[in-house]
Amino acid sequence: MESRQLKEYAFSAGADLAGISGIDRFDGLTRRKDPRSIFPEARSVIMIGRRITRGTLRGVEEGTNFQNYMFHGYNWLENRFIAMTTFRVSEFLEDNGWEAVPLPNLPPEVPPMGVAVRKGVPEPNVMLDFDDAAVRAGLGEIGYCGIFLTPEFGPRQRFQMILTDAVLEPDPLPAEEICPRNGECGGFCPLGAFNGDRELEISGRKMRVAEIDYGKCASCKNGAVKNPHHPAGRPDRIASVCIRTCMDYLERSGRIKSRFRLPFRQRETWTVREEKDLYRM
Ligand code: SF4
Repeated sequence: MESRQLKEYAFSAGADLAGISGIDRFDGLTRRKDPRSIFPEARSVIMIGRRITRGTLRGVEEGTNFQNYMFHGYNWLENRFIAMTTFRVSEFLEDNGWEAVPLPNLPPEVPPMGVAVRKGVPEPNVMLDFDDAAVRAGLGEIGYCGIFLTPEFGPRQRFQMILTDAVLEPDPLPAEEICPRNGECGGFCPLGAFNGDRELEISGRKMRVAEIDYGKCASCKNGAVKNPHHPAGRPDRIASVCIRTCMDYLERSGRIKSRFRLPFRQRETWTVREEKDLYRM
């Protein structure tokens, strides 16, 4: 099968983004991070993405409706819309004779939950890092803020993954950077969760990223959502003030492709240090 055919099908099934990496781009990772721990015969890793529509962030931006994001921007998008697209692409692969292992995005920080069933295999559950895999699939980069960014939508997308034994042409890793990495985004965090930075390297791509105190993010009332799967999992920060500000900056500066008639941020944003401590920036 050609990558072009697979992607055409994925886009017809609702994907906004589709990226492919050869399994060799995962060489050298520990068994807990290697897709071959789940499917030893895997030869390609396919990342299927769908956008978080900008309007699902509106209620949080205005501080008047948080459920708008929780359903169409998070739960339903993750568990229904992308899941259906991923399942249909998996069916397409299997109709062509290739096994397809569809995986939801579960937190890779979760510790082992059982015992190894045989020598040489890791304990269940192996949960892969989807942001890391999306970089390897050439879809974008980890921004300084720690969120995956694409040239199409900035921080506005979610992914699922398919492992397959089909050998597919991999996508190149882009050379251009989306994030200016000037550290300014840290200044928008009212809880002071940005603590310096470090260099991250994925498949030869180097990215300077902030060290973030995710314990603070877990209690953040500015649009962050606690991880619904496990307390060890990182909170979802896409609707929080730090990432909404990042998105507005990327749009205004023309660093991403998405274009709208009106800028996202229309008025002074709100922030909260604690639930009872509401103040204006
Ligand atoms: S989620 Fe909240 S605490 Fe975490 S970096 Fe963003 S604004 Fe700061």
